[in-house]
Amino acid sequence: MPPDHLWFDPSQMLIGGVWRPASGTLPVEDPSTGSEIGAIARGSTADIDAAVAAAETARGGDWGRMPAAERGRVLSRIGRRILERVEDLAILEATDVGKPLKQARADALSLARYMEFYGGAADKVMGDTIPYLDGYTVYTLREPHGVTGHVVPWNYPMQIVGRSVGAALAMGNACVLKPAEEASLTALAFARIAVEAGLPPGALNVVTGLGEEAGAALAAHPGVHHLSFTGSVGTGALVQAAAARNIVPVTLELGGKSPQIVFADADLDEALPFLVNAGIQNAGQTCSAASRILVERPRYAEVVARMAERYRALSVGPALADRDLGPLISARQKAVVEGYLALADPARIAARAPLPGDLPAGGHYVAPLLIEGISPDHRLAREEIFGPAQVVLPFEDEDEAVAIANGTDYGLVAAVWTADGARQMRLAKRLRAGQVFLNNYGAGGGVELPFGGRGKSGHGREKGFEALYGFSTLKTVAARHG
Ligand code: NAD
Repeated sequence: MPPDHLWFDPSQMLIGGVWRPASGTLPVEDPSTGSEIGAIARGSTADIDAAVAAAETARGGDWGRMPAAERGRVLSRIGRRILERVEDLAILEATDVGKPLKQARADALSLARYMEFYGGAADKVMGDTIPYLDGYTVYTLREPHGVTGHVVPWNYPMQIVGRSVGAALAMGNACVLKPAEEASLTALAFARIAVEAGLPPGALNVVTGLGEEAGAALAAHPGVHHLSFTGSVGTGALVQAAAARNIVPVTLELGGKSPQIVFADADLDEALPFLVNAGIQNAGQTCSAASRILVERPRYAEVVARMAERYRALSVGPALADRDLGPLISARQKAVVEGYLALADPARIAARAPLPGDLPAGGHYVAPLLIEGISPDHRLAREEIFGPAQVVLPFEDEDEAVAIANGTDYGLVAAVWTADGARQMRLAKRLRAGQVFLNNYGAGGGVELPFGGRGKSGHGREKGFEALYGFSTLKTVAARHG
C-alpha cells in the first residue's frame, strides 16, 4: 500500500480515548500480493481489562448521561465524516481484505448509512404504558445493557462494525470492539473518525489482536453485559459458552448456505445477475452468499448454461484493479476453499472462470467454480465453502424446492424467483431463513432490514430498528398510587 493510503498508525489501539500500543504486534498482509504492509497491535487480556474498565467508566459518565438526541447527533456527525472519507476507507478496506474497490466503496457507504440510520433512531426507542390494576400506573423503560463486546470477522469489517457498534452506541451502551486479526484497518480508521466527530472517551474502545487471546478474553470478561459475535459456527459456540458462564446475552451472526429458488415462470433476465453476483461477491466470502441455486426442471439446463456463460466471463484480479473478484483473505482460507473444490466431480463442473496471467504471485487467488447436478446431500451442497463457488441443483415441484432449501443446518437468507404471487407468499412462510427475498436478493445490503439466522446461522437480529431492542434491556416500572 502506498504510505499515504495508511493515514494513521495501525499499531495503536483505542482505550479510554487514548491511542496506545500493545506489548506485541501482528503483521498486516495485503491478500492481493501476499506482502506485508504494516502491523497492528496484538492486544492482550490486560488490554481487554483496560478497555472494559474504560467502557464501564464511560457508561457511568458523560456518555451514559448524554441525552438520546445528543447521542444521535454524535452518530450522525460520524456518518457525515465517513461520507467525506469514503475513498480513503475504500482503498484501506480493498487493500486489507482484498475485495474489489467498488465493493469496498459500497461497504464504506453502508458504514456511513448505519451511522445515519442509528443516529436518527437513537431518540425514537420508546417504552409502553400498560393497563393494569386499579390504582396502578405501569410503564416500561428501554435501557442500555451497559458494556457491550463486539467480535467481528474479516469479510465485511465496515458493514459489520457499522451495524453492531452503531446500534449499540445509539442505545447508550459503551463498546469494546475486537476486529479480526486478518483485517483490522477500517475498524481502527472508523474509531479515529468517531473520536474526531466528538464521541466521548471510552464510548468506543478498539482492541486488535488474535481471536484466541483478545477475542477469548473479551467473550469471557465478567464486566461485559452483552456480546455480539459475527463469525464461524465453531467460534460462535465458544463465545456462547463463555457468555453462558457469566449469564450474558449473545447475538450470534454465523454462517450460511443460502438458496435462491428459480421457478419455471421466473423472469430469467431479471434473475440472472442476482444469481451469479450474490455468489461471487467478495469472492464468495459472504455469510449471505447465495451458494445454492435451485431451479425448476423445465428451466434447469437453460439456467446452468447462462450462469456458466457468465462464469467464463468473470475477471479476477488485485483489489485495486477493481475486477469482478479479488483474492481470498489468506493462504489458509485459500487452502480450505481449494480443499472443498477438489471434492467436485470433473463431470459436474459447469464452468470454471479463467485466472489471468498477470496476477501477483503471492496473492491468494482461486478460480470461480460453478458446479451442477450433484446430490443435495453432497458436502458441496450442504457445507459453507466461503469461496467463489456455487452449486446449481434441479427440483421437480414446490415441495421438493422447500425440502432442499431447508435441508441444511443453516437458515440465513433465501430468495424465490417466480411470477406467481400466491407461491411467493407460501414460500416466504415455508422457508427457514432470517430473510426471504421475493424476485430479488439482498446479499450484504439493507441497513434498514432486520438480519439474522435460524439454526446454525445463529440467533438474535442486527440491522434495522430491531437491532435496538437487542442492544437494550426492558425494565417494567409498576407504581401503586391508589
Ligand atoms: P472466525 O470465527 O474465525 O473469526 C471471527 C472473529 O472471532 C475474529 O475477530 C476472530 O479473531 C475472533 N475469534 C476467533 N477465535 C475466538 C475465540 N476463541 N474467542 C473469541 N473470539 C474469537 O470467523 P471468520 O473465519 O473470521 O469469518 C468467517 C465466518 O463468519 C463465516 O462462517 C461467515 O459465514 C461468518 N459471517 C457471518 C456473518 C453474519 O452476519 N451472519 C457475516 C460475516 C461473516
